[in-house]
Amino acid sequence: MNCAELSQLLLDYFDGALPGLIAAELRQHAADCACCRSLVETYGLTVRLSADVAQAEVPPGVAQRVRDAVRALAEGQ
Ligand SMILES: [Zn+2]
Repeated sequence: MNCAELSQLLLDYFDGALPGLIAAELRQHAADCACCRSLVETYGLTVRLSADVAQAEVPPGVAQRVRDAVRALAEGQ
């Protein structure tokens, strides 16, 4: 596997959609290549943070307050 292949497979890797052998090749390349290792780490962090945000609940009333604020801005108040 080379760097370009790794970057193209990254999304599937974090989705768990890669066959085990390919995932192992990806991990092996990342272990040997500092550039790809930081790519994998950064991407993994982004995926985890996105998952946290997706699970976070918006407190009641926040959506309404945001709509009110946007409307106030739009009306120039
Ligand atoms: Zn690489």
